[in-house]
Amino acid sequence: MSKRGIQYFTLSEIEPRIWFMLTGCDFRCKGCFRPARDGGGTLLSSEETLRRAEQACLKYYGKIPTKAMITGGEPALDREYLLALVKGLKEKGFEEIVLMSNGYEIGREENYASDLVEAGLTEAHIDIKAFSGDIHKWYTGKSNKPVLNAVRMLNDTGIELLIQTVYMPGIVDVEEIERIAIFLASLNRNIKYRINPFAPAFAFEEVSRRPSIEEMEHAYELASKHLPNAIISRSCYREYPTPPPQETWITVYPDLSFKRRSMKDQEDDRISWLSRSKSKPREEILHELTFKRDDSEYRQKLEQVTRSFYPPSSNPGSNKKTRD
Ligand code: SF4
Repeated sequence: MSKRGIQYFTLSEIEPRIWFMLTGCDFRCKGCFRPARDGGGTLLSSEETLRRAEQACLKYYGKIPTKAMITGGEPALDREYLLALVKGLKEKGFEEIVLMSNGYEIGREENYASDLVEAGLTEAHIDIKAFSGDIHKWYTGKSNKPVLNAVRMLNDTGIELLIQTVYMPGIVDVEEIERIAIFLASLNRNIKYRINPFAPAFAFEEVSRRPSIEEMEHAYELASKHLPNAIISRSCYREYPTPPPQETWITVYPDLSFKRRSMKDQEDDRISWLSRSKSKPREEILHELTFKRDDSEYRQKLEQVTRSFYPPSSNPGSNKKTRD
């Protein structure tokens, strides 16, 4: 029976919803900011993962929620494990089961996409890091052919899809973004496409800079020529027009110990990861961060721009209450 490393489960404090954080990844994205990339955690079978997740939910919510997000790292590395996890979630009554993946394994294996949907997957969020094969290979270490294939195959199943790209000036520029939008539109004009700004602060390698607000708007304009459901920003405003502030969340470790964590705790984890993986003293990482950190003014401006594209009254996704 296959096992995967579980770093922790996250329980939302906004609404009953659980996230599964699986460790390990087949990509080595230069701008990665996820400590789960490097493996570790507690090795669990899908059955044991589900049992502990259920215990965590019952202890905190007093019931099993209906929404689950499976993320990492890369959650699709082990097909047998992932299919059993999705099937188990469906059997426990989860109605929204969302997978967040780089798409590589799904696009390489025959029927992986359709098997996931048959098992109960309801939505997939796939990153297209770059459209040009050479840029993708340089940035991730792998070809993007399986990724594009995964998007095609998932789209063929009729599942809800959100595709994401990080805008990295000088690397993944507006030309790349428009090519991705054209590719997606050739499959299905209603695919949701989110453009996120590169955030150098916690990136493993500072390969680019943060795009300006004007550059983000331009990227949006180009993408939305082809896709009516293009969105920008790290927050998913279109799908969640009035997001309540989520300042803390509950982290449940595989041994079922709980901790209420904040953005500050998450930052501390990332600083420890960068320090460990780059073999640099923590103080040095902290010193570098003070020069690269995102400022709140930028976030506010980006949020305003996003809101101007989607006034709540005309919001096409306002019936959905998901936030990611
Ligand atoms: S796919 Fe995600 S977790 Fe894996 S290296 Fe890239 S950014 Fe990191």
